[in-house]
Amino acid sequence: MQLKAMHLRGRRALITGSTSGIGLGIAEELARHDCNIVLNGFGTPDEIATLQRRLTQQHSVQVEYIPADVSNPEACRAMALEAQSTSKAVDILINNAGIQHVAPIEDFPTDRWDAILAINLSSAFHLTAALLPLMRTRGWGRIINIASVHGLVGSKNKSAYVAAKHGLIGLTKVTALETAGQGITCNAICPGWVLTPMVETQLQTRMITDNIDRAQAEHLLLGEKQPSGNFSTPTQIGALTAFLCSDHAANLTGASLPVDGAWTAQ
Ligand code: NAD
Repeated sequence: MQLKAMHLRGRRALITGSTSGIGLGIAEELARHDCNIVLNGFGTPDEIATLQRRLTQQHSVQVEYIPADVSNPEACRAMALEAQSTSKAVDILINNAGIQHVAPIEDFPTDRWDAILAINLSSAFHLTAALLPLMRTRGWGRIINIASVHGLVGSKNKSAYVAAKHGLIGLTKVTALETAGQGITCNAICPGWVLTPMVETQLQTRMITDNIDRAQAEHLLLGEKQPSGNFSTPTQIGALTAFLCSDHAANLTGASLPVDGAWTAQ
């Protein structure tokens, strides 16, 4: 089932990490609701060009691409400047880029800790800080932070990820408070398992370490945490994002919304 129009025509969204997985699902859904898109994330020039062409042709929206590495604060600030140049505004900021590393605390490599904090948390701060002033001037804005169930609860061996995602939910609350009543909202979406390249890596590891096939690995992964027994899809996360960007959600701010098959209901 497809939701009706969210009236995003003429809006422009910058989505970090939108060349794959959830970010791409969000780009597709916002474009389907007529929103212009600024893509970001890694990919070969051919892959990016194909993606831009496909989204433009399918949805008749403008699709730009800025190749910033969001682990670098200066690159985040430069991307914000570039996205707002040529008299265009960023109406919608989706802080989605994220990486994962799994290891016990005492074996957790310092460089992975630093990278996860930089990409999954600090990039959202730098982009929010750089893009808020123009949103305030224009009296309209949407900031959506793609957190995780791991912003609400912990799991062993994911110290950096859980710390970063809890931090992102804290940043979401403060951003909502500092923008309340100004036509700007800020919310966090907290997915459970979504089948994307990030989770594919964890499935492959599970298949090797437990010597099991793919169906068994999926069954184990979901069975441990996600009572619905189903993965969420990038399109479902994109549809919630589109709703949060619409005027229906004008008074929904400061929230952390789980899409987790009842993971955090337990
Ligand atoms: P993914 O690996 O499919 O995509 C990650 C995207 O981020 C890619 O486009 C990649 O190029 C980009 N990226 C990575 N490092 C970057 C950097 N330094 N600079 C710019 N772009 C960078 O992952 P995904 O599963 O789609 O995850 C997207 C977000 O959703 C992440 O924040 C993740 O923590 C969150 N999330 C995912 C799940 C899940 O089950 N997949 C669950 C909860 C939360």
